[in-house]
Amino acid sequence: MVAAGAPASATEGTRASTKLLYFDHMWTLQATATVVSVITEGERVAVVLDQTILYPQGGGQPFDTGFIEALDGPIKFRVTDVRAKSGVVYHYGNYDENTQTKVASYKPGDGVKIVVDGTRRTLNSRLHSAGHLLDACMRNAGLETLEPGKGHHFPDSPYVEYKGVIPSKDLENKRGALESEVNRLVTLGGQVRAMIVPYSEAAALCGGSLPDYVAKDSCPRIVCLGEHPGCPCGGTHVSEISEIGEVKVTQIRVKKGVSKVSYNLADSVA
Ligand SMILES: [Zn+2]
Repeated sequence: MVAAGAPASATEGTRASTKLLYFDHMWTLQATATVVSVITEGERVAVVLDQTILYPQGGGQPFDTGFIEALDGPIKFRVTDVRAKSGVVYHYGNYDENTQTKVASYKPGDGVKIVVDGTRRTLNSRLHSAGHLLDACMRNAGLETLEPGKGHHFPDSPYVEYKGVIPSKDLENKRGALESEVNRLVTLGGQVRAMIVPYSEAAALCGGSLPDYVAKDSCPRIVCLGEHPGCPCGGTHVSEISEIGEVKVTQIRVKKGVSKVSYNLADSVA
């Protein structure tokens, strides 16, 4: 899949960009930060911080939820949606009802602790990582001529798309082959790494070339699952391939020249 994850660059835009701590610390679920501003958009309130460990929705991966708690004081802000616009991350939500002082709100300069909902993050990271692993399986299942397209890693209906057609007579056979291969690779395991490297090094990690949307003068973030070819990605992932667990490839559908591979995690299928 291509372009997985939220913005691959944290420096775009004219406003001060939010530092994305999960870029370097994908498995950290708590961090401290300083409040930059509190924004009201109609009924919605958004807290902007100098840095964040909460993942903003993008690249087919859902946003994190969690809390922003005052370092010294009773204020607790429940984060129910996280979005990135022009490099700035907006934490939407509401002040917790249990906050002792009901009129309290954050001010610029306040020190806070950010806490990620680990259950939701783990599920999203497993689903997203499974999408990467399916890319490797396409090659191993003799489908390497299909070009990776978009990925959607939401728990309701995850899928990865490839440009190219699998003949209808082969669909069930290839579905079974992909499912066997992805579970073989899960069992084999391997370390997952994310690194921000110069373009030429990034291309080498990704099998020799990068997609056209990656600027040649940039230092993209590359994610590698084990020894499989890497992929430019801004998302969060498991730390070990085996943490993905058993994967079901539920269906392959071909429409308008695109093959859509639907999958899910065995332990999240009803
Ligand atoms: Zn990724």
